Amino acid sequence: VRRPIIAGNWKMYKTARETVEFFEQFKPLVKISHHCDIVIAAPFTVLVDAVKAAEGSNIAIAAQDLFWEAEGAYTGEISPLMLVDVGCRYTLVGHSERRQLFGETNQNVNKKIKAALSVNLTPIVCIGEMLEEREANQTQKVIQTQFLEGFAGLTAQAFSRIILAYEPVWAIGTGRTATPEIAGEVHEYIRGLADASFGQPGARNLRILYGGSVKPDNIKGLMAQAHVDGALVGGASLNADSFGSIVNF
Ligand code: PEP
Repeated sequence: VRRPIIAGNWKMYKTARETVEFFEQFKPLVKISHHCDIVIAAPFTVLVDAVKAAEGSNIAIAAQDLFWEAEGAYTGEISPLMLVDVGCRYTLVGHSERRQLFGETNQNVNKKIKAALSVNLTPIVCIGEMLEEREANQTQKVIQTQFLEGFAGLTAQAFSRIILAYEPVWAIGTGRTATPEIAGEVHEYIRGLADASFGQPGARNLRILYGGSVKPDNIKGLMAQAHVDGALVGGASLNADSFGSIVNF
């Protein structure tokens, strides 16, 4: 049995004060929610505030990105150990916005995964196809390339510490959710890739989140799919009530 994870991605939203306010409202809503792991990926500037606000709760804090070097002359970058130092337990890697807007490649994703694992940060690795790719029947090919290049050189043991998020790019921030069947189909395909590369029990234990316009009114249908083990939630994670409803699906 795979334990579900509901993760929020705040993207470039929320000041320190808004972060504290969010947690004041959100914590009571999920206080007795023990059926899943709860994660919030906050901007770098409010990670300290988020960790402090989440203290003593069942909510873990994630970064949205990281750099792979431990330290050095890399102006503007944040190292894996810096994230651990402020109390992060997870980090997103390879979000489609990083891939599309900031030139993130599968090779960089691979280095970031290894760097995160080296300090015991759990990477939530995002993969997914663009609309043109889906329409050209390239979905499986794109996912396969992202998977093979992103996870190149990992041992089965390292792979067992990873969380995957399937996020079809056409469904992110568009209000256009993949149907539970589309999500379920791709998740099953991804589990097959995991089996081919890393075998069992890694593939069976791999938690695969769905992301793309997840809302309180569509979470149940998605979670009913056999291979959907949780959600990565953007827009709807900014509001305590809506994210609370999603967590308590
Ligand atoms: C995301 O940011 O990963 C995401 C899925 O966004 P949204 O839920 O807003 O589509």
